[in-house]
Amino acid sequence: MKIETIDLNFLGSEHVIASFLLMDEGGGSAAIVETGPTTCLDRLMRGLDDHGVSPEDVHGVFLTHIHLDHAGASGHLAELLPNAIFHVHEIGHPHLVDPSKLMKSATRIYGDRMDELWGEARPVPEDRLVVLGNGEEIGAAGGVLRAYDTPGHAYHHLAYLEPGSGAMFAGDVAGIRLPGQSYVRPPTPPPEVDVDAWLRSIEAVRQVGPESIWPTHFGNYDDVERHLSELEQRLQDWLLFVEGHMDQGADRDEIAEELGAKGDAEMLAEGAGPEDYKHYDLAGDYGALVDGLMRYVSRRRRKA
Ligand SMILES: [Zn+2]
Repeated sequence: MKIETIDLNFLGSEHVIASFLLMDEGGGSAAIVETGPTTCLDRLMRGLDDHGVSPEDVHGVFLTHIHLDHAGASGHLAELLPNAIFHVHEIGHPHLVDPSKLMKSATRIYGDRMDELWGEARPVPEDRLVVLGNGEEIGAAGGVLRAYDTPGHAYHHLAYLEPGSGAMFAGDVAGIRLPGQSYVRPPTPPPEVDVDAWLRSIEAVRQVGPESIWPTHFGNYDDVERHLSELEQRLQDWLLFVEGHMDQGADRDEIAEELGAKGDAEMLAEGAGPEDYKHYDLAGDYGALVDGLMRYVSRRRRKA
């Protein structure tokens, strides 16, 4: 199996959202992991064409989770890829059949920027959808993909291992890391962030032992253990930071500013510069990340 990265050129920026194209080296069968948002649909279709893959060749679409930057184009693609079956976590399934609740919840976060960022989400016909659970293996592009339940960024998150190469398509469970960088940013937007679950998922990925990890934001990396450890530590550190500021009575905007200063300083220490900050912000900006962490802290306290 051959694996290619299609850069969806989100908002005209390279290296923010990827779709991964899996091709049978014998030809004739292909699969993709992640659709990207509807606003990147043309770019995705051109990417298939660039690699000589016709829409009829795509038999499988594998979604890590249903957030609009990962799966927003699914309904449109169901029309454009006549032979594709869409694979998704069971909790995500109803939102692909009927995206209206998902769109409503995204509108609460993104407001009047919905069209510019994501575009329209159409339903995926139910007979084109298959639910995958932990450890399930499904044929794809002449090989197989194995799904792993990896909650934390969202309850309904799957990562996919391609056992032949040891490549793991990590969605958002392995964080945001852009090409040429070592820095890993935890994407913690509302509404479902669960840091404890996420830490267990990172440990589960470690146990699987992939040779390389392929975050949707963006690319692929071989220093798996270093990458996972950095994410694990930063998740815990950022959670304590946000919780500490909440206890001091800081409001959301203040915390976002403080976390932004802290995060940018961390990036600088790993050799990234202000141009790079902007790219990381496109994949996960501090305001949204603080919203998600604050919500998690409040939820956990209500439970305690
Ligand atoms: Zn994402």
